[in-house]
Amino acid sequence: MIETIEYPETDASRYLDLMPPDAAHCLTELAAQFGDIRVIHMNSTANGGGVAEILHSLVPLSNALGIRTQRAVINPKDPRFFDVTKRIHNMLQGAEGSLSEEELAVYYGCLDDVAEEIERIGLSADVWFLHDPQLLPLGRLLDHCSGATRIWTVHIDLTQPNAWLMDELLPLTAAYDALICSMDTYVPGRLPPGPAVHIAPPAIDPLTTKNSVMPGERSAEIASLLGIDTCRPLVTQVSRFDVWKDPWGVIDAYRLACKSHPGLQLALLGLSQANDDPEGAQVVESVRDYAGDDSNIHLFFSPDDLPASNDEIVNALQTHSDVLVQKSTREGFGLTVSEGMWKGKAIIGGNVGGIRLQIEDGQSGYLVNSSVEAGERIAQLLSDPDLRATIGKNARQRVRERFLMPRLMYDYMRAAQQARKFGAAANGVQ
Ligand code: UDP
Repeated sequence: MIETIEYPETDASRYLDLMPPDAAHCLTELAAQFGDIRVIHMNSTANGGGVAEILHSLVPLSNALGIRTQRAVINPKDPRFFDVTKRIHNMLQGAEGSLSEEELAVYYGCLDDVAEEIERIGLSADVWFLHDPQLLPLGRLLDHCSGATRIWTVHIDLTQPNAWLMDELLPLTAAYDALICSMDTYVPGRLPPGPAVHIAPPAIDPLTTKNSVMPGERSAEIASLLGIDTCRPLVTQVSRFDVWKDPWGVIDAYRLACKSHPGLQLALLGLSQANDDPEGAQVVESVRDYAGDDSNIHLFFSPDDLPASNDEIVNALQTHSDVLVQKSTREGFGLTVSEGMWKGKAIIGGNVGGIRLQIEDGQSGYLVNSSVEAGERIAQLLSDPDLRATIGKNARQRVRERFLMPRLMYDYMRAAQQARKFGAAANGVQ
């Protein structure tokens, strides 16, 4: 059931070289204070979605900095677990309703089993980062790890959570030494006393295949192999097929922009459905219907028969597109926004959650409140290459300053350090 994931070694200097020297110094100093402390990052899915994306980079970087760090994934046997946790995810992002006794029993029962297995296989650490609500009840179940530091890291947009569910779940946070939220506006109002709260917005890894500079010829080649006409403009949203990502709204916006830009093409790229997201197939069907027979709308949802890897395709479409969109109606952070901004692209984002943290409206992208606004911004940007270039330049700079992986590494280490109270306080890192 529990899977541990091994990563090839990476070289910390590749990351440190990207940082201002004093920030790199703070990072290595803080890492050195970990000594023999062992860290585990545990989440619910090996691949797909933002948390897996972050951990793929953060765990090797942590090891490269000398901190003994493992990644583990829970794979509950009961197939109903992810149905329930997807409902929990939706409710934490504002969906109405409550969970039945049976659903709660599935949720807690599966995590009881996970806890038993953790003990049985002897998985242990001094610091446990348990990511997202799928794992929240585990904090109080790590009986064999007395003295271990428990940190619950929640990546969800908690702006307007379902009150019933918050009453159910918030008491579970008392088992933790610290909580990490992506934004201060997400910190729940009625937390039980105990855990310290830290704010750590997610970040992207600039050195991955997905985020490294891709030459224009290669991105155009991949786009062309995917059936896109590289002589005509392209707008893209990269996202799991998920209700909160509003793919229907993206199609509406594209249709509006088509009125002034006939020949415009739209790509919706959702290859990496996460294992813990059982709703994807229904959303794909609905979006296919909505797109109808418009041959300029390209939907990518099947990982089969692709001309390149997922990461190369994400990079290619983000690099090749004239305008990027992330029209979410709720968004914990939205790594795809920083990924696009890092490529120097003008991006239009829903005016919600973590997208508001990344995009400064009118400077490093645009924030929109409706499909009509999104359509108008697409049309404006397509008509004005200079504006696209200026916004794209600001966007890359903003990501460089705030949303790269070493900063997140530092934030997580600081949270662990303060929870365990070792070492001297270090200065901030950019
Ligand atoms: N992603 C991908 N392939 C796809 C669609 C998405 O690799 O076809 C990646 C995307 O590049 C990003 C992550 O999945 O790194 C999604 O993270 P985000 O925070 O944007 O949203 P989440 O899925 O966690 O809600």
